[in-house]
Amino acid sequence: MHKTKVSLVKLRDYESKNVYQAVKKSVDLLGGLEKIVKPHAKVFVKINHLSPPSSPESAIVTHPAFTKEVLRLLKEFNLKITVGDDIQSKQKDGFILSGYRQVCKELEVPLVNLKEIGFKEVICHGQILKKIYISPLVLESDFILNLPKLKTHSFTIFTGAIKNMFGIIPSGLRLKYHRQYSKTEIFSQMLVDIFSCAPPHLTIMDAVVAMEGEGPSAGNPRTVGVILASKNAVALDAVATKITGFNPMDIYTTQNAHKRGLGTAKIEEIEVVGEKIHEVEAKNFKHSAIAIGLLQRKIPSFLHAYFQDQLILIPKVKIDKCTVCMECISICPLGAAKLDRNTAWIDKSLCIHCMCCHEVCRFQAIKLKQRPAGRIFRMVSSLYNRVGSKFS
Ligand code: SF4
Ligand code: SF4
Repeated sequence: MHKTKVSLVKLRDYESKNVYQAVKKSVDLLGGLEKIVKPHAKVFVKINHLSPPSSPESAIVTHPAFTKEVLRLLKEFNLKITVGDDIQSKQKDGFILSGYRQVCKELEVPLVNLKEIGFKEVICHGQILKKIYISPLVLESDFILNLPKLKTHSFTIFTGAIKNMFGIIPSGLRLKYHRQYSKTEIFSQMLVDIFSCAPPHLTIMDAVVAMEGEGPSAGNPRTVGVILASKNAVALDAVATKITGFNPMDIYTTQNAHKRGLGTAKIEEIEVVGEKIHEVEAKNFKHSAIAIGLLQRKIPSFLHAYFQDQLILIPKVKIDKCTVCMECISICPLGAAKLDRNTAWIDKSLCIHCMCCHEVCRFQAIKLKQRPAGRIFRMVSSLYNRVGSKFS
């Protein structure tokens, strides 16, 4: 039986020559791009361009220098390439701050904010979703190239290849789903539903400088120094999580996609080519404080509701850091983030703990407060995760 291949190539910086060589090597280790994509194919390149726009140094978006070299490689194969993501921005062109507009202009590759061309209704045979709206650019492409950034996530624990496909649906729907599916496990099933409607043909992950701690936007950049490539996004996520000290099956998106047969998350069923996992392991990689997903399976089911409640993180605005940029107020689906004189504040009675305000605040002005019991549970879970991952 052929094992799913995931390639690992070391890359310590975003120097163009080094990036190009590493990207090419990562794809060559899978057999070469000419074996993966047909000439003249319509290729949609899905970047991670989390809103609101941010500079590449903050490690929130797939680094444009990384994407640039991927595009250079694609251009050698006479393909019809479009780069895109669905982004929210106050500026007219939200791709300028990250540098994406400049990169795509230089390489003469169209760059599209998906909301500008609308979305099409699609039947979804998912566990949660029965119909969704997806960008026609994705639906009409022959080949989907997924370029996620390796990051932690304060709600889903990890965000990688599977979760990056969440950006092919409208931002309003993403907010609605955040509100509707407030448990990590259900939310992750919904993410896999979307992923299953448009599984990428190739994924190349930017884990050169990843994000640790409270990702996907309020964590800290952390050099991991590797890129990963695979034709199977589930296997790639499994290897990426292993590199950062997680047990892949503790990540609900990976676990759920594995169970549905969308790919394997078992490391022993994956052929890792290039570097070995232990050679690129990110030692002491800081995970998000939220360990709901990890913890739930270690306790009896009748206690889940209690633990879930205790583990809820409560957003609180730090007045001295708030610049009144209004991003949290515009994104809050329930109007719980409000403006009072010269600062934002959170109305706890309305808050559903979706973390959207925390995600969008670029000034780290929204802290997540833990309940005392939740703090203890997280410490225990974190300890288990560190010790347990060494034996799994
Ligand atoms: S809390 Fe953050 S996102 Fe909200 S207004 Fe203040 S700086 Fe902006
Ligand atoms: S205040 Fe923040 S966490 Fe609460 S509902 Fe609004 S966006 Fe979500």
